[in-house]
Amino acid sequence: SRQFTRPLNDLSNQYNTLLSAVAGAERVFEVLDEEEETKDEEGNEELAGVRGEIEFKEVSFSYEEGGNTVNHISFHASPGETVALVGPTGAGKTTIINLLSRFYDAKRGSILVDGREIKGIKRESLREHMGFVLQDPFLFEGTIMENIRFGRLDASDDDVMKAAKEANAHSFITKLANGYGTIVEQDGSGISQGEKQLLSIARAILANPVILVLDEATSSIDTITEMKIQEALHRLMIGKTSFIIAHRLNTVQKADQILVLKNGEILERGSHDDLLKQKGFYFELYNSQLQREIG
Ligand code: ADP
Repeated sequence: SRQFTRPLNDLSNQYNTLLSAVAGAERVFEVLDEEEETKDEEGNEELAGVRGEIEFKEVSFSYEEGGNTVNHISFHASPGETVALVGPTGAGKTTIINLLSRFYDAKRGSILVDGREIKGIKRESLREHMGFVLQDPFLFEGTIMENIRFGRLDASDDDVMKAAKEANAHSFITKLANGYGTIVEQDGSGISQGEKQLLSIARAILANPVILVLDEATSSIDTITEMKIQEALHRLMIGKTSFIIAHRLNTVQKADQILVLKNGEILERGSHDDLLKQKGFYFELYNSQLQREIG
């Protein structure tokens, strides 16, 4: 369909597409590949046995000639670490993820996974090691069983249910009249936004990628479901190198490192406590959010 024929600007659409790579649903990806800006170069290699070490070295990129969307981005994440990307809209958080997943290639600098430049790795192979849990999860018109199994197409029904349990999704699914056989319709049909997220977490648990990208939901989700989501995400993230595009600062406090972005640059970095002590931009953001939540 049309939506897969170009790299998209919109994060959720883009990663809905990317999810299919995780799932190994290559058909969708081939369509995307045909039209994509960044082609795999001759001799690009497969990525196997990934530990999930990620390094950005002086990475700069612009969507347009002469511009500078992100500048001199450098950071290192050890396998299993959680990196939170924080900053105002337009700061460059999504762009960093776009570069990591080779939706676009850096104009300057290098990006390494396990010490290997991703420029030399087949994009599809790279993305097979990545999982995405998005604000607006991609669900297709099929049963809940099929939607979760999309994470790993050879998974048995038992595997799917085990993943659903780990994702705190099993109990709501079994309360539906048709259980795992419930057809998910495009409009959601009785499945709440929060429950959709639980399904996408179950899918990611099944896919078990080494690198995880979480785009935090901005829409309001009821407190109990939100707790279920947080708990399931916590379980999902164990042992994975995780990137959180954070919209609410209370969820990034446990991150190993927080990168505070402004105008495409890393303005501050550190743990939550470090950053508060600096009394800089993060401190300001944190206090203004707190104010809003209290007020
Ligand atoms: P964030 O995720 O922090 O909100 P983005 O990485 O999405 O920020 O955007 C960084 C900047 O790049 C913004 O000014 C945005 O308008 C611009 N931008 C994002 N995607 C595109 C695109 N596909 N083409 C041109 N400009 C873009």
